[in-house]
Amino acid sequence: MRRKMAAGNWKMNGLQDNLAELEALAQSYGDADCDILICPPATLIHRASSVCGDGIAIGGQDCHNAETGAHTGDISAQMLKDAGATHVILGHSERREDHNESDNHVRLKARAAIESGLKVVICCGESLEERETNNTLDIIGGQLAGSIPDQVTGENLVVAYEPIWAIGTGKVPTLDQIGDVHDFIRARLVRRFGDGVGLSTRILYGGSVKPSNAADIFGVSNVDGALVGGASLKAEDFGQIIAALASS
Ligand code: PEP
Repeated sequence: MRRKMAAGNWKMNGLQDNLAELEALAQSYGDADCDILICPPATLIHRASSVCGDGIAIGGQDCHNAETGAHTGDISAQMLKDAGATHVILGHSERREDHNESDNHVRLKARAAIESGLKVVICCGESLEERETNNTLDIIGGQLAGSIPDQVTGENLVVAYEPIWAIGTGKVPTLDQIGDVHDFIRARLVRRFGDGVGLSTRILYGGSVKPSNAADIFGVSNVDGALVGGASLKAEDFGQIIAALASS
């Protein structure tokens, strides 16, 4: 039985004042029947982890694959852990696009994060053009093969399926489209890692999840939760998504 997960990606949003949203979330949903993860900007990780206590896990949004060194502006997995993070999102489409991150980069980062004791949320997803030319499953299969390192377990790996064209756009795939990709990801995980890892890894859907569509999405097969951008910034909206997940 996979424990469901509601993960929030704050992206480059959030100042110290916004920690009040987290405090409110922790108070109302800290004992919800699902895992809750918030990935604020790196500047807030330390304070966020003390504000949230045990009820909400805190994660980074990226890390370097090296432990230390001459990498101005980057952050290592150890640094995230030292600041209080337990997870890190890797291979988000915005990182892949803004920073030219390849599957190989993502795999090296994931390996470094796991070696530092972090759990990884590895993102995959197709562009609109790739979907319209019927290449979605080929793209996702390639991203999974190239981005997930061999060292994963069902405990330290979460996969997020995030169609690029659905991120921040208000457009959402049909439930059948979501189900087809999640079933495919599950099959690929089982094929590569066997039933142990393959069946215990959580697969999250991400892309314009909001209170009004969350319950339907959580009813789809192999959807174990959501990675939420915009709607995770407000405790009230994210709380409704958590409630929908916990009762799904
Ligand atoms: C995301 O960036 O991971 C995301 C899913 O964003 P949004 O929920 O705003 O579409």
